[in-house]
Amino acid sequence: MRLFLALIPPPELRRQLGQLGDAAHAPCGGRRIVDDNLHLTLAFLGERSAAEAESLSRWLERQVFGAGQWRLDRWGYFAGPRIIWVGGPGSAELQRRQASLVASLKGFGIVVQPRQFRPHISLLRNASPPPDTDLPKVGLDWSYARVSLVSSVPTPHGSRYTTLAQSRPQDDAFSGK
Ligand code: ATP
Ligand code: MG
Repeated sequence: MRLFLALIPPPELRRQLGQLGDAAHAPCGGRRIVDDNLHLTLAFLGERSAAEAESLSRWLERQVFGAGQWRLDRWGYFAGPRIIWVGGPGSAELQRRQASLVASLKGFGIVVQPRQFRPHISLLRNASPPPDTDLPKVGLDWSYARVSLVSSVPTPHGSRYTTLAQSRPQDDAFSGK
């Protein structure tokens, strides 16, 4: 199965991101990613066996990612896959934590591509480049806390995501539960 590690926005933020997707869809076209699938990919793990998914789940459930904030403040475009996204550079802390996940994955024999982490949330696929004007300003703050291990299954209506496991919330770690 296809796996990735991601931060999943809370429903209200997903709704706001979806509204940005709608705003960009008008001038840029393409396929609007449904609200339920909006996420920040931390690491794409590729095709993995059920046994690997199981051991990654057990591992992730013991990890604490650490709470933090991510400021989304810009539109962006990946010309190759024709993806319109919103994002922001992310704090040094977010970069460090993502790098630490990537380092841990090496222990599972998983090498993550691409090397450089550019924090973004894809909103539209197969879209034209965003115009310089006419798009609403992006100004969203996301308080994240837990990483999800997600499996992605292709369907005729796009990929269906299922969360297999999550890292521990920070408080849990301190209370020793
Ligand atoms: P679909 O492929 O149906 O359009 P999707 O891209 O959301 O949907 P997946 O292809 O399973 O679903 O990808 C899951 C996540 O991993 C997405 O965030 C995607 O951008 C990212 N991803 C997919 N392939 C790669 C890759 N080769 N390298 C890095 N990230 C990837
Ligand atoms: Mg894909």
